[in-house]
Amino acid sequence: MQKIDKIYINGEFLTPHGTERFELFNPATEEMIGTVQLADVEDTQRAIAAAKAAFPEWSRTTKVQRIAALKRMHAAVVACEEELLEAIITEYGAPAARSRWMASYPADVILQVMQTLESFEFEEQAGIAKVILCPVGVAGLITPWNSDAGFICNKLATALAAGCTAVIKPSEMSAIQTQIITEALHKAELPAGVFNIVTGRGEVVGAEISRHPDIAKISFTGSTAVGKGIIESGAATLKRVTLELGGKSPTIILDDADAATVVPMALMAGFMNSGQACIAGTRILVPRSRLTEFEQAFSRAVEQIQSGSPRDEKTDIGPMVSRKQWERVQSYIRLGLEEGATLLTGGEGRPAGFDKGWLVKPTVFTQVNNQMRIAREEIFGPVLSIIPYETEADALKIANDTDYGLNAMVLSGSLERGLRVARQIETGRVLVNTLAHEPQAPFGGVKQSGLGREMGKWGLMAYLEPKTLLVG
Ligand code: NAD
Repeated sequence: MQKIDKIYINGEFLTPHGTERFELFNPATEEMIGTVQLADVEDTQRAIAAAKAAFPEWSRTTKVQRIAALKRMHAAVVACEEELLEAIITEYGAPAARSRWMASYPADVILQVMQTLESFEFEEQAGIAKVILCPVGVAGLITPWNSDAGFICNKLATALAAGCTAVIKPSEMSAIQTQIITEALHKAELPAGVFNIVTGRGEVVGAEISRHPDIAKISFTGSTAVGKGIIESGAATLKRVTLELGGKSPTIILDDADAATVVPMALMAGFMNSGQACIAGTRILVPRSRLTEFEQAFSRAVEQIQSGSPRDEKTDIGPMVSRKQWERVQSYIRLGLEEGATLLTGGEGRPAGFDKGWLVKPTVFTQVNNQMRIAREEIFGPVLSIIPYETEADALKIANDTDYGLNAMVLSGSLERGLRVARQIETGRVLVNTLAHEPQAPFGGVKQSGLGREMGKWGLMAYLEPKTLLVG
C-alpha cells in the first residue's frame, strides 16, 4: 500500500493543507493499492504564488540555460523509467507493450522539446520593427489520467523552454506516477518555484488554477465538457488557453483497400490503449458494396485479440482505468443495442474466463448510423462502430458530421487517392495508410476537439506573446 502525502511547491515536498484522501486501485485486480492526500485551494494558491515569484528570473534565462535545464530534466526522467513502468502497469493496467511506450515517452518528449528549442528563434525582423517573443507568464497545466506522466513532461518542458513558470495539476488517479516524475524532476535542480505540482480534485485545484488572476495561460488536456468550463473561468482575466480535448475519430476505408492489410490497422487505431485514447479511430467507415467482406474480416481479427492482465506480454487489451469507466463503457454497449446497431462481436460483461478486473470485451457494432449516440459520443473504451457508406463523397460527409475533429485515418490502395480524401477531412491530423507519429508536427484538434496546438514550434509558440519594438 502506497501512502502519498506530499505535494511539490517552491522546490520542496510539503504536506498538503488539504486533508481529503483519495483511494487508488489496481484496475486489473480491483485491489486498493494506495491513497493520496489531495491538495486544496490554499495549497493551489501557494503553488501559484511560488510560480509567480520565480517567473521574473526564469523568464530572463537564456536559451542556453534553458537547454541545459531540459538536459538535466531528461537525464533525471530517463533514470526513473523502470519505476514509472511498474507504476503505469499497476495504476492504469495498460498492456505491457503500451506501458513500455508510456514509460519512455516522458523522457523522449523532453528531448523533443529540447530539439525544438535549439532551432527556435525568439527574435525576428518585420520591416523596420524587431519582433521579440516573450513568455506569457505563469502557466497552469492540467492533465488527464490516460497518459499523465507524458502529458506532464510535454507541457512542463514546453512551458519552461518558453521561459514560463508552471503550476501542474495532474489527475488524482495518476498519483503514483506523478510522485515518481516529481521526485525525478526535483533531482534536475531547477530553481525553486519554477515548477510546482499539486495533485487534487479538478473541481477544487483545477478550478482554482483556471480562475486565478496570476495564471496567464492554461494548457489543458481532458474532456470537452471540462475544457469549455476552463474557457469560461479564464475569461474574466482573458487567459491564453490551449485545449486538447476529446474525439470521435473516423477511419475511412476506401473501396480499393485490401482487407487483410487495413483491418489490423483500423483495429490498432481503434483499440489503442484499450480504447482509452483521445485519438482512437472509433468510427470505421466501410463501403457498403464490401460490407459483408469487411464484417467477416473484422470479426475474425477481433477474435484473435487477447484481453487480460497487463503483465501478460500477449495481452492486447487491458482493463479500463476504474470501475466508473467500466460501468460507463458497459452502458454504451447496452445503448448501442437499444439504438438498433448490430453487434458484430463482443458485448456486455467481462471477456470469458475473467471474473475480476475492469475488462471489457473488445466490441464492434455494425450497421451503425452516424446519428446514433454510440457514433457521436466519446465512449473511451474498446467499442467500435462500423458505418457503411455509398460513395467517397458520402464517406467524407459522414466523417465530417461530428462535433469533434482531432484525428482521422484513410486507408486506400492508392496513396494519391488517400491523400486527396485526407485533405477534405475536418480534423487536426490525418494518417494515410500508416500508424506513424511525428513529434515535431503540431498536434491538436479542430471544432470541439480543442483550441491551439501542442508539439514542435507550434507548441512553443503557445506559451509566447510577440512584442513589437520600433526604435526611433
Ligand atoms: P477530465 O476532463 O475529466 O479531466 C482532465 C483533468 O481536468 C483532470 O486532471 C481533472 O481532475 C481536471 N478537472 C476536472 N474538472 C475540472 C474543473 N472543473 N476545472 C479544472 N480542471 C478540472 O478528463 P479525463 O477523464 O481525465 O481524461 C479523459 C479525457 O481526456 C477524454 O475526453 C480524452 O479524449 C481527453 N484526452 C484528450 C487528449 C488530447 O490530446 N486531445 C489526450 C488525452 C485525453
